[in-house]
Amino acid sequence: MKPAPLPRNEVERLHLLHELDILDTEPEPVFDKITQFAKQLFDVDAALITLVDSERQWFKSKIGFQENETPREVSFCSHAVEKASTMVVEDATKDERFFDNPYVVAENGLRFYAGVPLEIAPDIFVGTLCITDSRPRNFSTQQREWLEILAEWVKNELVGRYAISNFEQERRVLAEGPVAAVVWQVEPFPHLIYTASNVERVLGYPSDYLLDPEVNYETIVHKSDCEELLARMQAVLDGEQESLELEYRVITPQGDVRWVHHYARADRDSHGHLVRVRGYLHDSTKRKELEISLQQANQSFALALAAGNLATWDWNLIKQTVSVNHTWAEILGRDESYAQNNRWATLIHPEDYQATRDALQRHLKGQAERFEARFRLQHADGHFIWLHSIGKVIEFDENGLAVRMVGIHHDITDEVKNELRRKQQETVLNLVSAVQHEFLFVKEFSEVCDIALPQLMALTQSKVGIIGELPGKSVSRELLWLHGVRRSDDEVKNQAYQKLIHQGLEVEVTGRVVWQVLTEGKAQLCPYPVQNEEALFQPLDLPSLENAYILPLYFKRQVVGLLLLANSAQGYNQELLATLEPILNTLGTLMHFRRIDEQRINATEELRRMATIDELTQVANRRVFIEAAEQRFNEQQRYELPVSVAIIDLDHFKKVNDTYGHAAGDKVLKQFADITREVLRDGDLLGRQGGEEFAILLPHADINQALQAAERVRQRIEETEFEWQGKTIPVTISIGVAQLLPTDKDVDRWFARADNALYQAKSDGRNRCIAAKEV
Ligand code: GH3
Ligand code: MG
Ligand code: MG
Repeated sequence: MKPAPLPRNEVERLHLLHELDILDTEPEPVFDKITQFAKQLFDVDAALITLVDSERQWFKSKIGFQENETPREVSFCSHAVEKASTMVVEDATKDERFFDNPYVVAENGLRFYAGVPLEIAPDIFVGTLCITDSRPRNFSTQQREWLEILAEWVKNELVGRYAISNFEQERRVLAEGPVAAVVWQVEPFPHLIYTASNVERVLGYPSDYLLDPEVNYETIVHKSDCEELLARMQAVLDGEQESLELEYRVITPQGDVRWVHHYARADRDSHGHLVRVRGYLHDSTKRKELEISLQQANQSFALALAAGNLATWDWNLIKQTVSVNHTWAEILGRDESYAQNNRWATLIHPEDYQATRDALQRHLKGQAERFEARFRLQHADGHFIWLHSIGKVIEFDENGLAVRMVGIHHDITDEVKNELRRKQQETVLNLVSAVQHEFLFVKEFSEVCDIALPQLMALTQSKVGIIGELPGKSVSRELLWLHGVRRSDDEVKNQAYQKLIHQGLEVEVTGRVVWQVLTEGKAQLCPYPVQNEEALFQPLDLPSLENAYILPLYFKRQVVGLLLLANSAQGYNQELLATLEPILNTLGTLMHFRRIDEQRINATEELRRMATIDELTQVANRRVFIEAAEQRFNEQQRYELPVSVAIIDLDHFKKVNDTYGHAAGDKVLKQFADITREVLRDGDLLGRQGGEEFAILLPHADINQALQAAERVRQRIEETEFEWQGKTIPVTISIGVAQLLPTDKDVDRWFARADNALYQAKSDGRNRCIAAKEV
């Protein structure tokens, strides 16, 4: 027994199979009908729809078979899937792959098998439609064709489901997000008609309650905020404003207060009449609380000053001496004598020097009642301490000039750090809102990055920033798509990056550190210069990285991309990760969302293409061709321009299949279509009518011009050498041509005349073009 080799694209194949979300689901009538029909049509023991999973094959539908799944290594279907084309085993006992297969050896075992692999995306086969029997069978070309038609049906069902499952995923992602969408209908009076399923998480009220016509939205809003909300909403309803953005409090059913960030905009019909107002609601309680605690923190400084162990200083402006107390010396890790001779001023952080001096001057000139400043002084260890300093002149000379000044210092290093962190958190939460808005309305991820990167860089004082995404189905973590690249020192380069990103910027990850972020999902802190071989992205022109923080972007524990921040003057620390977490989550979610959105668009496009194009030959399918003919038929009655049709049938095509095999026949059909398209004029339409029958619609061609065109095609086909495995297959065609005449009452009659001419061409000896009779 020989298990089938794994398909070349096995990883991708399994990925797509799992995305279908179909394994281990309940039976469905549509699939059971197909298998039932197949069983009867071919008069076999069993008909199955199998899906070949990593270790097993599972049956979505099984008529005449007991088990739900069987091991992959004994499965016939995995051979068909690997082969990527229809597989027929007429007698399994005579096949070296299957003669000792347990299902063959068993009593009344399997003899006959025919399976068509199901291709749900180019070159991806997830399983088969197959039939089996306990007697050896012959399987004719015609039967094979029927089985393939049924498989096509199964495949369309699966592809349709793929598109739908993508759409559902998209909605799920939005519903998992922090922004809830709501819609107000305007007529006959404004009322809520839609709320997303996550609205309860934001407002604390379930959809049913909010949608109840008896409930007015404003009743859940805090009394003090109600008036403003109603006024702003009215302005949108009156057309004075196109949108509103407001933060207000909602009282939850439990009586808690929640801050809600509310963005709404008008939706108008094609005449500009307001029909709806769409709202996007976001729970901003956390951010608002931070804002309030920030205000409170500022007030508490004054209080802190009054208490505690104060450092004091006493400055004689005439003698230029300073004396300080013990606490002063302790805070700065220095000797009390250090402050003498005004040496302390050399300890001020260069960035704070000017402001401190100015504050002092203002007080000495009598413009400020006291001296008050915040600045950093250098500790004996080299690090800086934040101080809040207040001072006052207490002695003047006879001219009113300051002689002596005293003051206090207060160590506020911890407060400043906390305040900085709170500010960062607030910025991050604001950024989350901004990024979500941008994404909802623009849906361009690169524009989201244009907003996020500069802010994240400013927040961390970074001079370089990168946002990258792992390609969707990538198994290797070596490639990264860049959506944002910025350096704060070079605007010209930034524009160049932006251009590259628009064209699709893909880089190779060459460095160990970045590799670790992507594979292990752990943030990497690099306080040292990062060498090329550790982090860099080839072939991107970046400044050398003096330090860096590389953070993974997640969607549900799966790494989808990364954020790199580098070259910060103050360096990075681990605490930053917690601060940045909300924006990292948001970027990860949006990245995932963008990805499935793209997949959905591709799937829809693929469905549309499949519905109009014949898959084998890539020419118009029958439906599209007939529609085009009907359109011409209607036009012709108005404009009286000539239009003709040529119906083509390949000669003795059965013989091609019988002699060289079905695959050879397929190749001939493809090649025939390619050549014919090449010979035709631009406006002519080639379509496949079915089997080996084609038709050409020739606008603006009368019968003589159409005959000439048909003859050109016939000649080219006769002259072409159709090659198959070193042999040349002789191919000729017969053609019947008919110009649309006023006596043709409909398209059918017009085509029937062409068909008759084709029949004539066949009986006259084939390989010829015949013009239709005019009746
Ligand atoms: P003639 O038209 O010259 O009278 O002879 P013929 O052999 O072409 O006769 P007929 O039209 O009855 O047979 C058409 C054959 O074409 C039958 C079928 O096996 C084969 N055929 C139809 N569609 C396909 C296809 O998609 N691929 C292959 N390989 N064969 C096809
Ligand atoms: Mg034929
Ligand atoms: Mg035919």
